[in-house]
Amino acid sequence: MLVSATEMINKAHEGHYAIPAFNTNNLEWTQCILKAVQETQTPVMIQTSESAAKYMGGYKMVVDMVNDLIDSMGITVPVALHLDHGTYDGAKACIEAGYSSVMFDGSHYSIEENIEKSKEIIALAHSKGVSVECEVGGIGGTEDGVTSAGELADPAECKAIADLGVDFLAAGIGNIHGKYPADWAGLNFERLGEIQAAINGKPMVLHGGSGIPFEQTSKAVSLGVSKININTELQLVFADATRKYIEAGKDLEGKGYDPRKLLKPGCEAIVAKAEELCKAFGAAGKAN
Ligand SMILES: [Zn+2]
Repeated sequence: MLVSATEMINKAHEGHYAIPAFNTNNLEWTQCILKAVQETQTPVMIQTSESAAKYMGGYKMVVDMVNDLIDSMGITVPVALHLDHGTYDGAKACIEAGYSSVMFDGSHYSIEENIEKSKEIIALAHSKGVSVECEVGGIGGTEDGVTSAGELADPAECKAIADLGVDFLAAGIGNIHGKYPADWAGLNFERLGEIQAAINGKPMVLHGGSGIPFEQTSKAVSLGVSKININTELQLVFADATRKYIEAGKDLEGKGYDPRKLLKPGCEAIVAKAEELCKAFGAAGKAN
């Protein structure tokens, strides 16, 4: 059964580790993530963007798929199903469909409108036991076709959203979505510290966690980050393993074209990478 993310995130914040939030794209991805977290006894957030949920057949399909896999795979670690970068309408639809956690990303609105809409989503979600993440300030890179310039969030604006009773907060601290460019300036720890102080130690979320050097994520966790989003990193290892299989001509040998064989190396790569990240974030073994 799905659980809200509030308890796992608060425990992570107190214990100075971070919950991995893996984006899923399909059945195999979801199975691989669940296998990795069960193996490493890691509390997890599985998340979808609105477009990924649409790709899979809709919010209800995703809710049913994750719930069914938890049952059929005998998963005992806490699992939250979260909407990543939700719109106002998308967050409402996911709360209705059975997601146990939602993000409402109002960062592209004026701060006044962001506050107003965040407040409404938080009230609706909490009335159903669903946890909420909100965002202040853009996060660089491209997410669902929307490119943000990437900025450092304003601590006072972060406080205004935190005071609404949000469960965890995403704020730009120099992080970006997708692959990090070679000339990336790194995370801004000074701003992270200022925001953490302004929001009275509420758990923070690091978006674009793929490819940030370990020393930086680890320092961010020590400063109050309790959820790290991972999307690109699993996509890259999956694509790499699949390319190797095809380039080696294995799809042309015997029944190597069978999708169950064709997708296997990529799936194994996802499991291995997810396990590695669970351990790197300090969340492995924290399920009990
Ligand atoms: Zn994001």
